[in-house]
Amino acid sequence: MPPLLPCRAALLQCVRAPLRTAPRAVFIPTRNASIKHPKNFTPPSPDELEELRERTIEFARREITFDVAQQTDQGNEFPNDMWRKLGEAGFLGITADEQYGGLGMGYQAHCIILEELSRASGSIGLSYAAHSQLCVNQLQLNGSDEQKAKYLPGLLSGEKIGALAMSESGSGSDVVSMKMTAKETDGGYVLNGTKMWITNGPDADVIVVYAKTEPDAASKGITAFIVETATEGFSCARKLDKLGMRGSNTGEIVFDNVFVPSSNILGSLNKGVRVLMEGLDLERLVLSAGSLGLMKAALDVTLPYVHERHQFGQPLAHNQFIQGKLADMYTKYRASAAFTYSVARHIDESHESPDIRTQDCAGAILYAAERATECGMDAIQCLGGMGYMNEMAAGRIMRDAKLYEIGAGTTEVRKLVIGRAFNREFGTR
Ligand SMILES: Cc1cc2nc3c(=O)[nH]c(=O)nc-3n(C[C@H](O)[C@H](O)[C@H](O)COP(=O)(O)OP(=O)(O)OC[C@H]3O[C@@H](n4cnc5c(N)ncnc54)[C@H](O)[C@@H]3O)c2cc1C
Repeated sequence: MPPLLPCRAALLQCVRAPLRTAPRAVFIPTRNASIKHPKNFTPPSPDELEELRERTIEFARREITFDVAQQTDQGNEFPNDMWRKLGEAGFLGITADEQYGGLGMGYQAHCIILEELSRASGSIGLSYAAHSQLCVNQLQLNGSDEQKAKYLPGLLSGEKIGALAMSESGSGSDVVSMKMTAKETDGGYVLNGTKMWITNGPDADVIVVYAKTEPDAASKGITAFIVETATEGFSCARKLDKLGMRGSNTGEIVFDNVFVPSSNILGSLNKGVRVLMEGLDLERLVLSAGSLGLMKAALDVTLPYVHERHQFGQPLAHNQFIQGKLADMYTKYRASAAFTYSVARHIDESHESPDIRTQDCAGAILYAAERATECGMDAIQCLGGMGYMNEMAAGRIMRDAKLYEIGAGTTEVRKLVIGRAFNREFGTR
């Protein structure tokens, strides 16, 4: 296996070079800057995306071996040296502007990286997505030039770890009912409250935090802030013990009179819900690729096993009950991947006037997340007794997959969101 090119510049050169030198660039008319993609974004070609997938698979084979994935899960701890490695590979800023060290390759590319990382380790994939999508992409989409220049380079190199905090113990699905306050003071705001279930919360240096600046104005009184966790008054109360995604550190974080300068408002004052909701659409789309990776992982563990193990004088895979499960797993993966990548491709290709349909983003993860849990369960069943053993990956895959039916809005909320999107289109709400 050839070594992975060692740095972002090399990856960028390798992956983007054909676009930069392509004669067709001469014929592309001047375009308006996209607000959902970096400046001068050009949708990647199928060849570039294939190249990126191969590079990510090479990275995962080298850096996220079976042993690393098992240790991450069983040790209940993210391998923190992974951040620098992900940064050096260029993966942390895949949707970010090249000016700040990003690759500016869009959402198909982001899905590919998350899929292949999650195939190797669901936990590493989830923490990666919280950093690169929930934090970095929110800054990319909503940050001012000054904010991007200040925060993106460290986040993209992996020197700093990012997170996003909206959920509270009393405000999960009904996130707009959050209680955390941000009171105006000299030169900024003072944040008070607690956020729950925050991915990367125990390790994060920079967190996008939502708080009520006008507590009586409901959804019209929420503002997004960029918070540096080194600020006095910030703490992580506890690291949470979970069923799955155990290597992705999740925390309950506390804000006790945390001062945030006005210059760290992300977007506009009291317009945090717009930042939150738009972020959620893309978050759901990209996170659906985490489920794709876990489905592939389920196939990776099941296919060789059922062909190697013999019972009743023949491979398990010659039994029609097992064949039925393999067919279901494979078809669920292919159907989910087709859904996710068609939505991502449409968003990339419509970059000049972005067309992001809520029902498509929510639909992609609604479908993929449930199918991934089913594939995890089928993997356990196909492996029989060994499927139930922690020395095999099947149980870990099933436990990790279940998260995607809960995080980024639950299955039930995704259905509500899709239903309401149709209600809006038909003018009935
Ligand atoms: C591992 C993990 C990582 C997470 N990471 C983050 C993060 O990084 N940042 C962050 O802000 N949040 C994060 N979350 C929080 C996550 O977004 C919430 O857990 C999720 O939105 C659900 O909220 P809840 O847990 O309060 O469930 P609840 O809202 O209490 O829902 C409980 C059940 O009731 C159902 N339900 C609720 N309302 C309705 C309704 N109106 N109609 C029908 N059914 C309904 C739900 O679907 C669910 O089945 C994470 C959660 C987990 C488990």
